[in-house]
Amino acid sequence: MSTILGIESTAHTFGIGIVKDRKIISNKKRVFTTESGGMIPIDVAKFHAGNKHKIYYEALDEAGLLGKEDKIDAIAFSQGPGLAPCLREGKEFAKELSKKLNKPLVPVNHCVAHLEIGKLTGAKDPVLLYASGANTQIIAYSSGKYRIFGETLDMGIGNFIDSFAREAGIGFPGGPKIEKFALEGKNYIELPYVVKGMDISLSGIFSNLKQKLNSEKYSLNDLAFSLQEIVFAMLVEVSERALAHTGKKELLIGGGVGCNTRLREMCEIMCKERGAKFFTVPNSLLVDNGAMIAYTGEIMFKSGIKYKGKKAQELDILPRQRTDDVLVMWK
Ligand code: AMP
Ligand code: MG
Repeated sequence: MSTILGIESTAHTFGIGIVKDRKIISNKKRVFTTESGGMIPIDVAKFHAGNKHKIYYEALDEAGLLGKEDKIDAIAFSQGPGLAPCLREGKEFAKELSKKLNKPLVPVNHCVAHLEIGKLTGAKDPVLLYASGANTQIIAYSSGKYRIFGETLDMGIGNFIDSFAREAGIGFPGGPKIEKFALEGKNYIELPYVVKGMDISLSGIFSNLKQKLNSEKYSLNDLAFSLQEIVFAMLVEVSERALAHTGKKELLIGGGVGCNTRLREMCEIMCKERGAKFFTVPNSLLVDNGAMIAYTGEIMFKSGIKYKGKKAQELDILPRQRTDDVLVMWK
């Protein structure tokens, strides 16, 4: 029996989740948003600092652990990758709780957590299409590590969509809004399709879209529709090749862009055509959240990964940590 509290703070979301014996017993968060313009890391960190205690007590309350914090066995936190000022807030809060409750710390890689949480759905050894704000990677387990089989060479898919939305003046996050506009789009506008080997590149498509937007020749509906069709097809192509290369039969989607109905539909069609199974977690676990950190933290904790006392206090954030830097000792 173990109860793990997980803290997520890599970017816009400050989340706290609690997992008991692989069951999520609470998952609370606040997400930084703007009406127009993007997110400035220092402002987001301030937002996290202002919300962390509130979210902590909400999570304890939902888990039925208010006043029973001694039942928590360890504090897991997102160590990286992410925005340094935001990661620092989460790490400092994890250390504060670790000291106060006298419990060990478990440092978790955010991308690996997106994959591990997929196990909840029954996926056993999936290829993960991790499509989030800052990250876009095709990840699968192979020979002791989570390997990156393909990734973006420049912008993350979510940031790409958000940047286009910012250009269009529709605020942050742009993904859900672009999806709505795309539903009204009728005409496909030709855009570059940029897959290089197993990687994708989005910055050229972004420049192209920006020019088209500023030329005022095209409607936002049609541009949003075409954007989705082209970049999602690129993601699906690379995911399919990762399935073919690894011989795996499961595709899992993770990250906030995975909330997009059209992207899921395209993944489903591809999986059906090649006899693979498509898995997705509920939206609350697709986006950044504390529960996936707690869930992964529990797996790591049970395999003996925990930091106490001086070692815990020495743990630092790893803003540029790569998925394949993580030594997977729990498999
Ligand atoms: P994450 O970084 O994983 O929390 O995901 C956040 C990103 O997901 C942001 O860039 C959002 O714009 C994007 N996003 C959320 N919902 C959707 C959607 N329905 N379609 C496309 N992108 C989305
Ligand atoms: Mg994420």
